[in-house]
Amino acid sequence: MPVTDANDHRKVAVIAGAGPAGLTAALELLRRSDVIPIVFEAENQVGGISKTVNYRGNRMDLGGHRFFSKSDWVMNWWQEILPIAAGEADADEPLRIHYQRQSRELHAAGAKPSSPDAVLLVRRRLSRIFYRRRFFDYPLKLNAATLRNMGLLESLHIGLSYGQSKFVRRSPEVSLEDFFVNRFGDRLYRTFFKSYTEKVWGVPCEEISAEWGAQRIKGLSVTKAIAHALSQGFRAATDTSQKRTETSLIERFLYPKLGPGQMWEEVAKRVARRGGELHLRHKVVGIERDGFKVLAVTVCDQSDGSHRRVPCDFLISTMSVSHLATLLEPADSEVKRIADRLPYRDFMTAGLLLNRMRASRQAVTTAPDNGMPPDNWIYIQEPDVKIGRLQVFNNWSPALVADPQKIWLGLEYFCREGDGLWSMDDGRFVDFAAKELASIGMIDRHDVLDGTVHRVAKAYPAYFGEYREFGRVRTYLDQFLNLYPVGRNGMHRYNNQDHSMLAANAAVNAILNEGNGKTAIWGINTEESYHEEVDEVA
Ligand SMILES: Cc1cc2nc3c(=O)[nH]c(=O)nc-3n(C[C@H](O)[C@H](O)[C@H](O)COP(=O)(O)OP(=O)(O)OC[C@H]3O[C@@H](n4cnc5c(N)ncnc54)[C@H](O)[C@@H]3O)c2cc1C
Repeated sequence: MPVTDANDHRKVAVIAGAGPAGLTAALELLRRSDVIPIVFEAENQVGGISKTVNYRGNRMDLGGHRFFSKSDWVMNWWQEILPIAAGEADADEPLRIHYQRQSRELHAAGAKPSSPDAVLLVRRRLSRIFYRRRFFDYPLKLNAATLRNMGLLESLHIGLSYGQSKFVRRSPEVSLEDFFVNRFGDRLYRTFFKSYTEKVWGVPCEEISAEWGAQRIKGLSVTKAIAHALSQGFRAATDTSQKRTETSLIERFLYPKLGPGQMWEEVAKRVARRGGELHLRHKVVGIERDGFKVLAVTVCDQSDGSHRRVPCDFLISTMSVSHLATLLEPADSEVKRIADRLPYRDFMTAGLLLNRMRASRQAVTTAPDNGMPPDNWIYIQEPDVKIGRLQVFNNWSPALVADPQKIWLGLEYFCREGDGLWSMDDGRFVDFAAKELASIGMIDRHDVLDGTVHRVAKAYPAYFGEYREFGRVRTYLDQFLNLYPVGRNGMHRYNNQDHSMLAANAAVNAILNEGNGKTAIWGINTEESYHEEVDEVA
């Protein structure tokens, strides 16, 4: 494609957002063309939702970001930016890692890391369910430990109610509650699914459609865990072939030594080195267009409130669809109505630094003296607390913690922007979160040394409500010749980092191909089986 305009000026792509999608697009444009990327990022750091927050030398990963992709292009791209640390993979023998029934062969890095810290670790996944003040295996197994934890009587009730659901079905299946009860029985639904699902989505299960359950609910890990347990039935502990299979399928993923944001900070450095522009604390607040062609954007410098106009040949947008639609003046009123009401779920993490935790009564083979559990994260199923998940950052990478003697936790809450949790003053929220963890017996309040809070608005683009009409928004956006909405909120899609990167790369392909191939962007992450594996919220 011509990389200059009629006056021999190099073409400019404005990129709104320096998350994984925006930075991938910028670097790919620089690698493969003469188009100049100008990236505007509203926040004061890069990485978007995948950033790492540094609090007094302790690093927080918001949500816990595993680096694993079905795409070789993505796996190689990551390793080219941050090579695998020495000792994690053997130079002669490839290391096979498994994740979500996929596997990948990794080779020791050809490239030398730019610094000893600029590397990827290979981590083992361990996560469990905490319910009734006890730990349950993940995936849940119907074994003696589970029966002990549930109690024999309760297990019997669950079994009977499950059996009953096979004969007496709720029909028609209208709500998510009907969906659950028909598949798992009323008792299991009430004990395991109801409170957690409502915690995650903030909507009673009776108000979520059964159809949504059919499409999405397999993605909830706890559901998957229980389905797995029911399908596996009771397996003898001596089933060695099963044990062998399980060992070979231990899930492992890549993880930047200093957290996910390290990947994107490295990419940002490369963008700058190659001559791309990156402006932090600059928000795109206006779009100037001529019909269906974007001519320029208006950018607000958040540090002094000043505005400037930036002409562009292409606009790659990773801002939320709801925001993008409001900037495309004059608005299409129907599109704006839908976009305004697209549902989202927001997210808060309280970081707590502790001396020790209360060691679990249940065997945890590697429990150190300070009582820290070995998990990467723990699903908190207890209905009497609002916390949804607990991250143990030490187990993601020891380098996330300033003092290796301390435990650095992330207490995760699903909420709605502006609700009681979201609006709570930071100090009060830290206190509230610590009290919750103490109330379920995991810590003693006086062992908490320090704490902080981080809020993520629009962490989850949700698939109910006005989303039903999303096709209309997409058709409208598709009419713009030089506008490329990509990424998680950019496409209102449950994207992981790899999907956001692939969409960004597809946008670059289309730009370099004079706009052809734009539809490939929407083809990313549509494979149903892939959706099912997205278990970040459960
Ligand atoms: C709890 C949780 C767990 C997750 N776990 C994983 C995981 O294990 N593995 C994985 O791969 N992915 C995971 N993800 C998904 C991952 O975080 C996202 O896929 C990824 O960050 C999306 O990248 P993006 O660039 O599309 O969007 P974002 O990360 O949202 O970045 C968009 C950027 O655009 C900026 N922006 C928005 N509007 C404007 C504007 N008008 N002007 C300028 N800048 C703007 C924002 O500030 C932001 O920095 C998880 C997500 C969550 C919420």
